[in-house]
Amino acid sequence: MKNQTLRDAVIRELIRMAMKAREQSYCPYSRFAVGAALLLGDGRIVTGCNIENAAYSPGNCAERTAIFKAVSEGNREFSAIAVVGGPAGKDPSSVCTPCGMCRQVLMEFCHPETFTIICAKDPETYQLYSLEEMLPAGFGPASLTVEMQVEDET
Ligand SMILES: [Zn+2]
Repeated sequence: MKNQTLRDAVIRELIRMAMKAREQSYCPYSRFAVGAALLLGDGRIVTGCNIENAAYSPGNCAERTAIFKAVSEGNREFSAIAVVGGPAGKDPSSVCTPCGMCRQVLMEFCHPETFTIICAKDPETYQLYSLEEMLPAGFGPASLTVEMQVEDET
């Protein structure tokens, strides 16, 4: 286990909420339903599902739906996210990992070493990763700060 501060009960609750959010998935094109549950710094949980679109590009992943919901409501501190996905109308057959775009969005708001990504199949079957493991050497807000400091010195 990568993050000892996340209790098993919290992990299982996040997975259960991601599974519940998955039921709201709007995925008529991929038929791949995904749910996510984001744990805020204060212990509250915000969920999301994937939302597809006839024009394809405007679709949004479950993870980003949850993050954007939370950020739009004034939240900026996040501890973990659970992701559950698989063929619509069926139980997932394996754990689901976030796409690259969602990893990048997580990088904007979450600490790479302490934020935990719970890739789950069900409450008993999951894998834990830090954001750093999912997005090694990721580009985030601190990267811009470094660039500006270099610029200031010239
Ligand atoms: Zn994604």
